Amino acid sequence: MSFATLGLSPALLRAVREQGYHAPTAIQSQAIPAILSGADVLGLAQTGSGKTAAYALPLLQQVLRQRQQQGRSTQRLPLALILVPTRELAAQVGQSLHELADFLPGPLKISIAFGGVSINPQLMGLRGGTDIVVATPGRLLDLLEHRGLSLGAIECLVLDEADRLLDLGFAEELQRLLAGLPGRRQNLFFSATFPKAVEALAQALLREPTRIEIAAEPARVAAITQRALVVDEGRRTALLRHLLAEEGWTRVLVFVATKYATEHVSDKLWKAGIKAAALHGELSQGGRTGVLNALKSGEIQVLVATDVAARGLDIPELPVVLNYDLPRSATDYTHRIGRTGRAGQTGVALSFISGQLGNGEAHFRLIEKRQGQRVAREQIAGFESSSVASAEAGVGGVKGRRKSKKDKLREAAAAAVEAAGSAGPVDETN
Ligand code: AMP
Repeated sequence: MSFATLGLSPALLRAVREQGYHAPTAIQSQAIPAILSGADVLGLAQTGSGKTAAYALPLLQQVLRQRQQQGRSTQRLPLALILVPTRELAAQVGQSLHELADFLPGPLKISIAFGGVSINPQLMGLRGGTDIVVATPGRLLDLLEHRGLSLGAIECLVLDEADRLLDLGFAEELQRLLAGLPGRRQNLFFSATFPKAVEALAQALLREPTRIEIAAEPARVAAITQRALVVDEGRRTALLRHLLAEEGWTRVLVFVATKYATEHVSDKLWKAGIKAAALHGELSQGGRTGVLNALKSGEIQVLVATDVAARGLDIPELPVVLNYDLPRSATDYTHRIGRTGRAGQTGVALSFISGQLGNGEAHFRLIEKRQGQRVAREQIAGFESSSVASAEAGVGGVKGRRKSKKDKLREAAAAAVEAAGSAGPVDETN
């Protein structure tokens, strides 16, 4: 399959070549012709599958054609609206659109709007009209209230990461925005997962959509190696330091559960001489961009982030994602590990399994079940978990792991203690 067969204009084919894309990804080869034919599309595709270009390319082509037909006399009301859940994704989608629009014969204006920064420059930027708007729902509503733009001419609506939009509580904002859009329009819906709420929204919104499911794109599944390391909760930072020293990773994105933990873990690493920074929702936009750029440029090696802060991030050449704390849900797990192994590269997704969140082992089993995939449990020499013996005695044993010499010693010691009538546990690992 080649891009040339999909119906894209020469200018867009050139942009694709300049981006270094040799062949369309699965979602691109299916979505591009469908979108160009005017159909609504329901795309089930992960971040990293190339979904942005899958809708951005046909959208640019259609918006340009429409503008050329309209001539210069008309008001420049936006023709396409792309709704995204986070400011990072808004910025990334905007950047992709700019890059792909580089060689178009006519100029297209692409406006990006997200919260957390002053609204005034965004209002100024919308003066004189625009062609394509990429926005988070809350800020878009603010702009509408300020009469910064009108959505009365929207011909194409894209919901990118629809599941995250709903997860982050944007349902009500979405309803308000949708109510203000023209009824006759094309709808493109992209989501990494397909929970009931997304299904309901799709049913209400899409007209006889072309369904495209790239749920388990073979290249992607193979591209990410999943590993699960059993370790005591109190030894996770030490194990992380050990891994950083041993594995030669250039860039690592570490996920933790709270803002406090982002700072705590990154401080501990920094004190140990490892260049690390924290990324959480309370950082200013400038702060976020700063740490992201520092990771991209190699100024820091480790970025410790919460789920919300890391949503939608596209860090090229990210070889490793580490779940220091396990994610709350299987959906978050999918999103987290999808940050690595992108665009044909390989990646490793590691999860620390320890006592956090009640019981790390039980929680990770649920994640595996939802994924339909089992990940072998491993232990790293010198960081063996004191809880493995009890986990093994639990639900059916831990597959993929043999008792180490140390385990056997521990069991023998425990038996000796028991025989001696002592109740004290034997803790030799810390
Ligand atoms: P996305 O799923 O849109 O977040 O895209 C993930 C990454 O894949 C981005 O870094 C894109 O630049 C890259 N990408 C998109 N399409 C292609 C393609 N056809 N070939 C290679 N890389 C691509």
